Amino acid sequence: MNYEVVIGLETHVELSTESKIFCSCGGHSSPKEANDCVCPACSGMPGMLPVMNKRVIELAVTAGLMLNCEISRYTTFDKKNYYYPDLPCAYQITQLNHPICTNGCVTLKTSQGNRDVRIKQIHMEEDAGKLVHEGKFSFVDFNRTSVPLIEIVTQPDFRSAEEVLVYLNKLKSMFRSGGISECEEGAMRCDVNISVREEGSDKFGVRTEIKNMSSFEAIERAIKYEAQRHMDALEFETEELVQETRRFDDVSGKTFAMRNKETEADYRYFPDANLMPIVIDDEWLEQIKSAKPVEIDEKAQYYRDEGISEKEIEMLVTNHKLSKLLDDVVAMGCNAKDTAVWILTDCAGVLRKDGKTLNELDVTAEKLSAIIKMVDSGDINRNAGKKILIAVVEENVDPVAYCKENGLDRKVDAGAIESIIDNVIAQNPQAIEDLKNGKVKAKQALFGACMKELKGAGDVAVIKEILKAKLSNI
Ligand code: ADP
Ligand code: MG
Ligand code: ZN
Repeated sequence: MNYEVVIGLETHVELSTESKIFCSCGGHSSPKEANDCVCPACSGMPGMLPVMNKRVIELAVTAGLMLNCEISRYTTFDKKNYYYPDLPCAYQITQLNHPICTNGCVTLKTSQGNRDVRIKQIHMEEDAGKLVHEGKFSFVDFNRTSVPLIEIVTQPDFRSAEEVLVYLNKLKSMFRSGGISECEEGAMRCDVNISVREEGSDKFGVRTEIKNMSSFEAIERAIKYEAQRHMDALEFETEELVQETRRFDDVSGKTFAMRNKETEADYRYFPDANLMPIVIDDEWLEQIKSAKPVEIDEKAQYYRDEGISEKEIEMLVTNHKLSKLLDDVVAMGCNAKDTAVWILTDCAGVLRKDGKTLNELDVTAEKLSAIIKMVDSGDINRNAGKKILIAVVEENVDPVAYCKENGLDRKVDAGAIESIIDNVIAQNPQAIEDLKNGKVKAKQALFGACMKELKGAGDVAVIKEILKAKLSNI
């Protein structure tokens, strides 16, 4: 018998907001130590009241627009009741009746051609805390409690693990480029619903749900294992399939039953009367639409047209912070291709020297564009620009002032350069001797000495030209 695998996904994504969804505690990337970001509201103290974070709605709508969803103009929150030690209120605030986005669609490029997957809905909710088990003790960390999530629910439209991975990678690069989420491991978690049916059948088989996986590798292995288990059960009647929730064990590569599938009634959902319904009017929706980042493909094409290399494009479209910095610098009148090099090569180099990565880059578009403009206008050469960049990245100095204070803006005319070169030649008889004896390397040493005398000022091309002319007369 030939079987077809049917998969539907529920993907939770932690949003990159500065604060939590219903209080002003720091969001996803803030905490350093356990329980750093906790207040009476998100730790469920009596009498606490939630206050909606507007940014969460805007990011959820942006995600919906990217996934071609209908945006609800009226959206509400519900309480989902269950007890667990990582949930201090004993209910989770989520959306059941009026989710923020519905009826979307995303096209996947797979090895079998293009595949469309329908998005059933996107809803907003709060994350739960984290339990940490050490020996016979368990600790609870509320930093993650009330961090905003969107949950993206697809229709059962996937037919293979490959399609699922294409989808997840697409979500990830979309959300990263759109500043919705960094989607690092743990910030994107998936429940995989899976069933198997005879090929050609139009009825779905019994489905199981594998909960809460955060690595793509685990998701792929779990799907393959679970699909095979279903097929064996149907083919050889090895066991009876029941609708249930399972967990994937990374070590054995198998799934294990956790509990019978809970139903909606188990959670006693009811509207959260502490939160007003949210109305999204035309004006607000237009604002969100116009701030929506351009689609990745469109953006990549724009960078390509500007002459930016493929490797750099890949870095830019998967990192909202960097592409925004580049776009802002370009908007201030700098050239896109040069700016990409300044950011992705020069800034990266400075950070690497300090053991940091580009994710830690903290430079304003104003300062970066000021440096690039000084170089482009010929006020300083690129080496001087780099010196200024180091001071800006490391000490956040003002580039123009720093340039003046350190004498880097000395515009040097050809006459001055000539006399410095004459001096260098006079002071390096050995190098001249070497050069006469055919040691071309000596040229480089002389050039270096000139650059040192000029302290990074002057146009490199002009210096080289004059030096070359002088040496050819020797
Ligand atoms: P529930 O309310 O039980 O969570 P939903 O209708 O919300 O059920 O569906 C949850 C997920 O399960 C969705 O992603 C959906 O696509 C998927 N799903 C539903 N039926 C099946 C099935 N027979 N096989 C695989 N996935 C399924
Ligand atoms: Mg569900
Ligand atoms: Zn709080």
